[in-house]
Amino acid sequence: MKDDLIEIASFCADKNLVPARSGNFSARIDSEKIQITQSGKDKGKLTASDLMEINYKGKALNPEEKPSAETLLHTQIYTLFRDVNFVAHFHSSSSAVLSKILNKKKIKRIKLANYELLKALSGVETHDHTEEIPIFANDQDIFRLSMEIAPELERAIVTDKSIHAYLIAGHGLYTWGKDKAETITHVDAINTLIESYIMEIQLSKSLSKSGPKKVESK
Ligand SMILES: [Zn+2]
Repeated sequence: MKDDLIEIASFCADKNLVPARSGNFSARIDSEKIQITQSGKDKGKLTASDLMEINYKGKALNPEEKPSAETLLHTQIYTLFRDVNFVAHFHSSSSAVLSKILNKKKIKRIKLANYELLKALSGVETHDHTEEIPIFANDQDIFRLSMEIAPELERAIVTDKSIHAYLIAGHGLYTWGKDKAETITHVDAINTLIESYIMEIQLSKSLSKSGPKKVESK
């Protein structure tokens, strides 16, 4: 379990998704305990001693250890999604910038549609799928932020709609998975899909202004 968590964090570090010791990662141990990265550790150089155990209320089992500030967002995901065993949170530039701009425009979610890569997400079997990623305003009060997020996650459960990630504006992205492989796949796919989405907006804008004109047949 510790090795799996370190491998997920290291994958994110290699892709430059967790700059300046940011981001946090966790794993469900059992029905009472969760393992999470300690605050402020370099996610590319984690060792077993950089991980700590918390309960489902986000409290450290060893009071001398300090969990990530965003611990409550991890416990919330484990409490709501019984089949999730790993949570990854990263601060990539693309997720921070896109969510910041859309939040400013009061857009509450992005819709990723018609990308073949969507099939990398668990339960998605065709490119003809619309994956919605909700966006929440950033907040240093993590309890208040978790209260904003809760209805969106609960809605996905009640409506049986797939949800694989959410964005926090100007901050980063949370995603999760049932095991190490699925979690790494979700990190990789969602990060790439977000970059593609940004590229799609930029290209369609510039093409509509000055793009190639339709070729007339003679
Ligand atoms: Zn964060």
